[in-house]
Amino acid sequence: MLRKVVQIGDPVLRQKCETVTRFDKELCALLDDMKETVRKYEGAGLAAPQVGVPIRAVVVDVAEGYFEFINPVFVWQKGEQVGPEGCLSVVGKAGTVCRPDKVKIVFQDRKGDKYSLVARGFFARAICHECDHLDGIIYVDKATDLRDVED
Ligand code: ZN
Repeated sequence: MLRKVVQIGDPVLRQKCETVTRFDKELCALLDDMKETVRKYEGAGLAAPQVGVPIRAVVVDVAEGYFEFINPVFVWQKGEQVGPEGCLSVVGKAGTVCRPDKVKIVFQDRKGDKYSLVARGFFARAICHECDHLDGIIYVDKATDLRDVED
């Protein structure tokens, strides 16, 4: 089911999200809906608070594939990359953001099993952007040249 994407200004986007402890049907339904929603709006990722659910779950949909990260935590971040970003919660804007070039995270999948993953380039950027949402941070807080763009 397609979910409504919350827009900047809504307090749910500024919360520190709760750790996921129940790997149940409700979580699966949320993740399925987030996948449908991120694909519909052609985003590179979506965090649960963006659909109004303040829990630590994100999806990332990039060239490397489609990923679900529950309770993601950075193990390390290396290097630097500067590039453009947008956000489904900040319609009509884009900005330039400096991010690590390479990251390692540990996370759980929808069943609660634990994994680790190394990502670089745009994949790493998408992970950083989505994980920021879990701490109430939006890329506009970090962008150097926020500008209007055509939808
Ligand atoms: Zn975003």
